[in-house]
Amino acid sequence: MAEKKKERQTKAFVEKKSCPKCGGGTHLADHANRLYCGKCKYTEMKKTK
Ligand SMILES: [Zn+2]
Repeated sequence: MAEKKKERQTKAFVEKKSCPKCGGGTHLADHANRLYCGKCKYTEMKKTK
C-alpha cells in the first residue's frame, strides 16, 4: 500500500507568478488583493479564502 501525497503544503516556498501575456520573465507585482503586471497592465484578482 503506497501512500500518496496530494500536494506539498509548504508555506515557506512561494512561487512568484509570471505574467501570462509577457511570459515567464515578467513577474506580477504583488498587491494586497491582486497581482499586477506593470508592463502590459494585466491584472489578476487574488483568490481570498
Ligand atoms: Zn504583462
